[in-house]
Amino acid sequence: MIATVSYIEQKFDEFNHLIFDGELPRIPIVQSKATRVVGAFTCKVRKNFWGKKEYADLKLRISTQFDLPENELEDVIIHEMIHYYIVYHKLNDSSSHGPLFKQLMNDINAKFGRHITVSHKSTPEQREQLAAVKKRWHVIAVVTFKDGKTGIKVLPRILPRILYYYNTVKSNSGVANVALYMSNNIFFNRYPNSSALKVHYLDKTIIEAQIQDAEKLHCNGVAVIKEK
Ligand SMILES: [Zn+2]
Repeated sequence: MIATVSYIEQKFDEFNHLIFDGELPRIPIVQSKATRVVGAFTCKVRKNFWGKKEYADLKLRISTQFDLPENELEDVIIHEMIHYYIVYHKLNDSSSHGPLFKQLMNDINAKFGRHITVSHKSTPEQREQLAAVKKRWHVIAVVTFKDGKTGIKVLPRILPRILYYYNTVKSNSGVANVALYMSNNIFFNRYPNSSALKVHYLDKTIIEAQIQDAEKLHCNGVAVIKEK
């Protein structure tokens, strides 16, 4: 399911009552288009005249880009509510997911049978869910190493950056071949799109299966053209 504002408000009230003893006043719920995180609690922090921290502009943001099972969505909402609880009561934690956060989280997980984690990052499975909504064209570099390993890298569709990756990786002594493809296979949406000199190792048979409908690109080191 994809979270609507009224659904999140209803869940907020429900969990506030059930878990937080109804102590948390409602704050604005904002729908975001974030793809790397599902939820976020945000606020502005400033120091008052006496040097004490004050919080303003408290908001709970939930991305509408994911189609998640309800229990996962609920866990995300509770996770953000723990952040809110800590800020609202002006409690001190050593970091955003410090010992206090973890203690509250573990207590809630045990008491209410939840599976909340400290991570804000969407999981690969969630991103796949997200991916299913959007087909995008990617440039994929398939890297074959001399030791037989294979891997892929999703590249930005920007020629100088494709060439930078292609030429640098190809000239590496451990690399046997770099092949470029254009693909709108949603399989590739889960990988970060950048020209960082990295390779995600993947089994050759998986790569071949995912790349079979892709268009092969030819690169001569200074230009990239579609192979006919
Ligand atoms: Zn968090």
